[in-house]
Amino acid sequence: MNAPLINAGHASLLDRAGDFPILSRQVQGRRLVYLDNGATTQKPVAVIQAESRFYEQSNANIHRGVHWLSQHATDLYEQGRERVRQLLNAARSEEIVFTRGTTEGINLVCWSWARSALKQGDEILITGMEHHSNIVPWQLLCEQTGAVLRVVPVTDSGELDLDEYRALLGPRTRLVGVVHISNALGTINPIAEMIAMAHEVGAKVLIDGAQAVAHQTVDVQALDCDFYAFSAHKLYGPTGIGALYVRYDILADMPPWQGGGDMIHTVSFERSTYADVPQRFEAGTPNIAGVVGMDAAIRYMQEIGMDTIAAHEQSLLDAATAELASLPGIRIIGTADRKAGIVSFVVDGIHPHDLGTILDMEGVAIRAGHHCAMPLMTRFGIPGTARASFALYNSHDDVAALAAGLRKAQKLFG
Ligand code: PLP
Repeated sequence: MNAPLINAGHASLLDRAGDFPILSRQVQGRRLVYLDNGATTQKPVAVIQAESRFYEQSNANIHRGVHWLSQHATDLYEQGRERVRQLLNAARSEEIVFTRGTTEGINLVCWSWARSALKQGDEILITGMEHHSNIVPWQLLCEQTGAVLRVVPVTDSGELDLDEYRALLGPRTRLVGVVHISNALGTINPIAEMIAMAHEVGAKVLIDGAQAVAHQTVDVQALDCDFYAFSAHKLYGPTGIGALYVRYDILADMPPWQGGGDMIHTVSFERSTYADVPQRFEAGTPNIAGVVGMDAAIRYMQEIGMDTIAAHEQSLLDAATAELASLPGIRIIGTADRKAGIVSFVVDGIHPHDLGTILDMEGVAIRAGHHCAMPLMTRFGIPGTARASFALYNSHDDVAALAAGLRKAQKLFG
């Protein structure tokens, strides 16, 4: 076992906490140590200012006005689409649909593409480590269409069983839905390989990228995926906004799923015709300021560099893993070789919620519970875990604070 890496002299690769105003506040009379980034990330000044500047100087409704301000707001909104295209390396910006976040992106695929493409007996293959947002929509769809949900099992180390995956793929498989990085375990799934295997049987693939886009470079063309969903609030952007990538030839054929203003071409009482993509999927006034904030967040990450962010978070993960392994009575859930900056664990004799409360008294914010992945908790025979998840602004001091808090909790319960 490697020695803990948190000792003095371990220089942090990144020192960006100063960009995040909330990190200078105290909670419970202590420095805030925010390790709940898997749930949502904090926002840099660049994002906060971009949103408030939009309301101060650029606010108007988009796509409808003949006046200058409306055109200006439309330009900012479409610039945000181009920024998301860059982030995912999509071939064209029309492949990017703005959504409220990952959950809405998955529901869009479900209620537009899948509802019209799937019939009784068709199979949807998801995995045992999906977030509820990539389980429940498919259950609802199966109830309505008679499609069948199948699940790829998870190994003891918290990885997908690829032999079982191969065995489950077949001529009836129409869609594979898989999480890129598990929010509950941190496992990075081999999605390129999985996509290629799914395409061999003619299935489409939806990737839940909620935990991936803030931590590593994503290239939808290199991956050759069909659908990729993410939320801005997990990449230092605002809540209530995100995007769904859909390969153009698929998107162009998809029917609308929500009706209203902005998504139409013509409307009469006899029949309405629909706008081209992606507007066909953006009914109603969207979260324009949110798109502007998301654009600023992506630029912020791009300026730092995804490889720099990934390397920094890996060093925090290595340090936290070594610290936890050095403490007695702690079991890490999810020990895959390829993990992102998430460490999930249980502590003998201490319920995760009690642990979360004690750490909170020390100013350390972690998440405790099932992480919206109840079937995965059942797989491991536990009600939940404590989870520390890292972001670019975390430091090795934060890892040290986590370890000190855990020692204190063990003493209290000892
Ligand atoms: N998928 C994963 C892996 C997640 O971690 C989350 C959020 O925690 C979601 C989906 C849902 O994201 P949102 O609530 O932003 O729609």
